[in-house]
Amino acid sequence: MRVNAYAAPAAGEPLAPTTIERRDVGPDDVLIEIEFAGICHSDIHTVNGDWGPQPFPVVPGHEIVGVVAEVGADVTRHRVGDRVGVGCMVNSCGECANCLGGDEQYCVQGMVATYAGTDRDGSTTQGGYSTHVVVDAGYVLTVPEGIEASAAAPLLCAGITTYSPLRRWGAGPGRRVAVVGLGGLGHMAVKLAHAMGAEVTVLSQSLKKQEDGLRLGADAYFATSDPDTFAELAGRFDLILNTVSAPIDVNAYLSLLAVDGALVNVGAPAEPLAVNAMSLIGGRRTFAGSMIGGIAETQEMLDFCAEHGIGAEVEVITADHVNEAYERVLASDVRYRFVIDAATLR
Ligand code: NAP
Ligand code: ZN
Repeated sequence: MRVNAYAAPAAGEPLAPTTIERRDVGPDDVLIEIEFAGICHSDIHTVNGDWGPQPFPVVPGHEIVGVVAEVGADVTRHRVGDRVGVGCMVNSCGECANCLGGDEQYCVQGMVATYAGTDRDGSTTQGGYSTHVVVDAGYVLTVPEGIEASAAAPLLCAGITTYSPLRRWGAGPGRRVAVVGLGGLGHMAVKLAHAMGAEVTVLSQSLKKQEDGLRLGADAYFATSDPDTFAELAGRFDLILNTVSAPIDVNAYLSLLAVDGALVNVGAPAEPLAVNAMSLIGGRRTFAGSMIGGIAETQEMLDFCAEHGIGAEVEVITADHVNEAYERVLASDVRYRFVIDAATLR
């Protein structure tokens, strides 16, 4: 089926309307009529070529929520009419130790990314800035009732990308967690860490968004442009989640960790981050990374959000505003996730 979409024709070029082909619904597939697609900074890195060459034209979008329109003959876990979500991956080998362990995102053969990836039939995947998508049912999540569809979309990437390391590194009561950068990922990290019971501090470039940060669940808020911040918070945190899309002075942030603390990087700038060994040695500190989360964990995160009344703070836009939204994300002027209303693509 031929469907409407928004695509980047080449690296760094503005997105424009186009049509793309979606495969026929196979026995294990689900056809989703897309309602909303979030704009992740990863979409911008990809189309701007920050992460290397891409198979243009690229239809970005890996924060997809919609309604099941058709299911294949062998699909049992989703039914026509169900509200569902698709995140950053649409397939993996399903047989390696990582897939079997629920970490499909680290599939040894490589997960199939939702866009600009190579699908198992050799075709290039195209993402959620479109009206419909066909996805293997095993990679389609159930969006629980109680979370509005537009607010649920960003959970599929921003939500799971912050939930997974917060859980793994034990965010909870008695633990001090700092979130660096209050954008799409950062604002989800604040909500989730707060709901997990941790003491949450936002480290933002300025105090412009302080009121929002405290409303979202932060206990404290500091500007990193103020050098006193680093002196005042030295050795304070058990866990720091860095969500910044640009290079930061990692050593300055490592100095804010307590002994045995961890700085987990989810931000994925093009440029390398220089870590001074002494920043780790003096304090038995860990510098780690984390990529999205597995399928079961993503469902767990969605259920956790429904239970705690958590959704993303979104600004819903029409598809023709996507390029303007990209500019605003690049200028750190997003509160806190742009979400495309896919009805405006029809
Ligand atoms: P975003 O909405 O643009 O948020 C990033 C925030 O970082 C900004 O709002 C800003 O917060 C801060 N920031 C931006 N430029 C900065 C600079 N030069 N110096 C200091 N702080 C700066 O982006 P996002 O969608 O949350 O994504 C963030 C990063 O995570 C991107 O690199 C993205 O590709 C990556 N990502 C990784 C994964 C994964 O699996 N690991 C998944 C999704 C996204 P303040 O205004 O508060 O300072
Ligand atoms: Zn993303």
